[in-house]
Amino acid sequence: NNDKAAGPAAAVDRLIDAEQARFAATHPRSAEAWARGRQHFLYGGPSHWMRRWAGGFPVYVEKAEGCHVRDIDGHDYVDFCLGDTGGMCGHAPEAVTRAATEQLRRGTTHMMPTEDSLWVGEELARRFGLPYWTLTTSATDANRGAIRIARMITGRDKVLVFSGCYHGGIDEAHVELHEGRMRMRNMIHPNGVDHARVSTVVQFNDVAALEAALAPGDVACVLMEPLMTNFGMIPVADGFHQAVRAATRRTGTLLVIDETHTISCGPGGYTRLHGLEPDIFVAGKAIAGGIPAGIFGLDEAIAARLWDVVPHVNPRQRQSSHFGIGGTLAGNALTIATMRAVLEEILTPRNYENMIARAGELADAARAVIARHALPWHVTQIGARAEIMFTPVPPRNAAEVAATRRGDLETLLHAFYMNEGILVTPFHTMFLMCPATTPADVARHAGVFERFAAMARAQGV
Ligand code: PMP
Repeated sequence: NNDKAAGPAAAVDRLIDAEQARFAATHPRSAEAWARGRQHFLYGGPSHWMRRWAGGFPVYVEKAEGCHVRDIDGHDYVDFCLGDTGGMCGHAPEAVTRAATEQLRRGTTHMMPTEDSLWVGEELARRFGLPYWTLTTSATDANRGAIRIARMITGRDKVLVFSGCYHGGIDEAHVELHEGRMRMRNMIHPNGVDHARVSTVVQFNDVAALEAALAPGDVACVLMEPLMTNFGMIPVADGFHQAVRAATRRTGTLLVIDETHTISCGPGGYTRLHGLEPDIFVAGKAIAGGIPAGIFGLDEAIAARLWDVVPHVNPRQRQSSHFGIGGTLAGNALTIATMRAVLEEILTPRNYENMIARAGELADAARAVIARHALPWHVTQIGARAEIMFTPVPPRNAAEVAATRRGDLETLLHAFYMNEGILVTPFHTMFLMCPATTPADVARHAGVFERFAAMARAQGV
């Protein structure tokens, strides 16, 4: 009752403390490992992305298979985080394991193509509808390559992004709108980059702002996800894609569609499902089944313009083949072999049907819980992905997310999930299905979410 006097925030705080204490008590080995990790890793784990888990520290993984993870304390989790999409094919998928094992024995990286790459190139063109492809080692690198190419062929410097976006370690995209003005996202260091010169940012779904930003004709490319997935899921408004394509064409601006996450919409991503016409298409993460890889594909006209600037190399003339895109390990034999396995055997129409059906079941069950407890929350489902948000309706842009977000409830829910054997992406409450996710896995979430909602209502948070 003291909590009620102090308001819901104090109640949530107390509940987070309780969940974190429960987590620490039931995860002694992970707690000890984390304490050790902090002695020699800059931010505790081998990647700084591993430190955000709401229990207070990450679980250390003993084994992951399908959509299940077992930690070193012996707990089993249903994994809807799936490595923040890197594991969308499921953990340890048989086809990738087989392809990788065979290729490991035949050499992984030699800066020469293997014959499997021919199949991969043909499949990428067939699946995503763009003719010319390049592999990278990450989606970040694919976006960097796309931006560089856009600048080379337009002679312009600016990149337009949408507030609340995330495209990897891309300096141009580390900006957001705050009270109508561009500023660095999350207080990220400008890294020596003059953002006023190279970046411009508008709100998602805002056609007028986009048209105004493109009108001066100094933007090399628009870099966008077809719907936003990194600041809560923000659905795209009807007609927005048509408006973006018309405005980019009218102003000679390239359109780069980043499908690193939205490849969860279908075998050809959101682009193929909805007939988008990007100049450059980017993906990564899941595309080689968890082996590091990114891809970018160019439209015919864009490739022709690039070849005008950077022609094919004639080895007799000792021409440089360096045009500013790194990646010695990109497109190596191991990546190609695993990418082939993914495209041929895992990211198939049939598996997508199942994944999307599971996401629908998860969303329906969560909506039923919300309705039963009359909570002002909502669920968005798009393809094989769903999101629970603590607001009554989906946001239209990042400003609405920022104004209404309940970060404290998110932390509480995520800590509760970890204690109850559910993993979701630690940044917001997003669920991703893999081909191995079963109705029983989804039902397990429904039970946990029901207990959380009952607790939230009882505590008045
Ligand atoms: N694009 C999008 C849309 C992403 O969500 C991410 C990562 N979350 C990236 C690119 C970068 O991927 P990576 O960190 O694997 O380079």
